[in-house]
Amino acid sequence: MFNKVYQFLKGIARIILPEKIRALISYSDHVVSVRHRRHLRAVHIEKEKVVLPVIVFNFSFGCNLKCEHCGTFSPYRSGLVPKEELLESFDLWSQKIQPVEIHVSGGEPFLHPDIKEVVIHLKKAWPHANLMIISNGLLLPNISDDVFQTLAGLKVKIRISKHFSDKKHEEILNNVTHRLTTFGIQNWILDSTVNWLVYYPLDDRGLPIPSRSNPKAAWSRCYIKYNAFILGHHLWRCSGIGEIQHGIQNGCLTSPEWLPALNHHAVSCDQSVQDILQYLHLGVIPECTLCREDCVYIKPCQISPQKLKEIQSLLAKDNQNSK
Ligand code: SF4
Repeated sequence: MFNKVYQFLKGIARIILPEKIRALISYSDHVVSVRHRRHLRAVHIEKEKVVLPVIVFNFSFGCNLKCEHCGTFSPYRSGLVPKEELLESFDLWSQKIQPVEIHVSGGEPFLHPDIKEVVIHLKKAWPHANLMIISNGLLLPNISDDVFQTLAGLKVKIRISKHFSDKKHEEILNNVTHRLTTFGIQNWILDSTVNWLVYYPLDDRGLPIPSRSNPKAAWSRCYIKYNAFILGHHLWRCSGIGEIQHGIQNGCLTSPEWLPALNHHAVSCDQSVQDILQYLHLGVIPECTLCREDCVYIKPCQISPQKLKEIQSLLAKDNQNSK
């Protein structure tokens, strides 16, 4: 809402105000373009590889929590990325790209039974990249000392998203952070109970539908636009468009309004480093229209088991009808 009013006032101001004041008002656009120019400089070719700030890998699509409006659609998805597929993509992509940071996400990455082996391989593929696992922390009490020792040895950091503020959950996370610190694993809690961003609207059945944003406005406020996303042989310029395409192809995003996302072409690991570089230099894309241009925050809440059952049967019906 704020963004819409802001864009509207900016439009009017552009017409009626003198040039000097118009220049001041364009400052926000300038900040975005400065950030973009910085990004363009950060993404470059060095030693025949594309250097880029961040890549994101999903280890799992599902999650032990079912947060409404989850940014990676995890309540509507399930399953893990198989170990073999992850190892293959590390081997293939490490020949073409060199990230400064690697984020391991999901779903919940600690659902992956082979997390130790996969992370060892990931670190072998990119020994100089900073490696961070993003978790809700609630499965960590069940993770063995052996896994934590390995993560500590590989200098993996763990960022915990806190989704509940009640005493019981606070105590679990406090114990978890204490244990991680004992192992020497750098960790911190990001309080998602304060600013839980609504990534997409829900239709009247409770299923995700895309926004219809001004692509430039959505891109300007987007904070994942420089987080490249890898799944198998493909790399997407941002995790947003990658997750949406995967969700459509796997029957989790069934509204036909998502379909324009399939017009976007990710790069594949068979392409040249020049092609990959050019792709990562894309600014706004038409598909940014599917993402939000405004920032709406809510208190995070869990989808009830009953509602989840209904959602699963709606998805099954939608997928049946589309055959
Ligand atoms: S499609 Fe555009 S707005 Fe959406 S996540 Fe990617 S860069 Fe951001």
